[in-house]
Amino acid sequence: MASEPAERVALVTGAARGIGRAIALRLGAAGLRVVVNYQRQAEAAAAVCARIEETGGRATAVQGDVSDRAAVDEIMRQAVAWGGTLDILVNNAGITRDTLLLRLGEDDWDAVLDTNLRGAYLVTRAALRHMWRQRYGRIVSVASVAGLVGNAGQANYSAAKAGLIGFTKAVAREAAPRGVTVNAVAPGFIVTELTDGLPEEVKQRILASIPLGRFGTPDEVAELVAFLVSDRAAYITGATFQIDGGLAM
Ligand code: NAP
Repeated sequence: MASEPAERVALVTGAARGIGRAIALRLGAAGLRVVVNYQRQAEAAAAVCARIEETGGRATAVQGDVSDRAAVDEIMRQAVAWGGTLDILVNNAGITRDTLLLRLGEDDWDAVLDTNLRGAYLVTRAALRHMWRQRYGRIVSVASVAGLVGNAGQANYSAAKAGLIGFTKAVAREAAPRGVTVNAVAPGFIVTELTDGLPEEVKQRILASIPLGRFGTPDEVAELVAFLVSDRAAYITGATFQIDGGLAM
């Protein structure tokens, strides 16, 4: 049986900082019990949990690399041991290794595909086992506009994010009869550590191409994800929502 809305358990991957952190805080504020996955940043993940609990929510931090199957099994084991079930999954963990294709080495190709695409596959498969049995679930993956329109210097990342969008549609079809919705969000340029490292002239060029004239914030992405995992979004599945200030119209 599905949990009552207030008792639902959400796993957010890569939630120690950036967009994942904002999503974890937003879901915690909505009353969900939140499993904060992190890879390396234990202190930051603990701080996210503390912040959720300060505002009356419940959260736990679980370490694990989403691209490693044994680690994913352990993340899921700990999440379900803590929460009793898993109702909501947000595939957020992601990395970039940007360079032009002619210089793109196999290690950087594999690292980006492993985290951004294989990671989502492994965690979704593990989570869906629980959702399947309880005939309820919400899965949202954080893709990117790079997966829709491509981005020079990001062949690996664009391929992974485009793959994630196709994956979302296929799993949405498979899971719909079991009451599980599967969607993706495709952010444009959101201010986080992932984007902080870009050269200033690149940032200015991107800014000039955004109709709304500014970069987005992690909280704005979190708001969209919070809607998609709620009961208000019950009739939405297989969709990809751009949140990019009009960048990729
Ligand atoms: P970020 O600040 O670099 O955070 C990424 C998070 O992912 C980190 O907390 C990191 O954890 C975690 N992570 C990386 N590899 C992992 C792995 N193998 N297993 C578990 N966790 C892992 O990035 P962000 O900007 O918030 O991006 C979050 C998501 O949004 C990514 O999927 C990214 O592609 C997508 N996105 C971002 C933007 C943007 O403009 N920022 C735009 C479009 C899409 P540790 O530090 O603990 O290793």
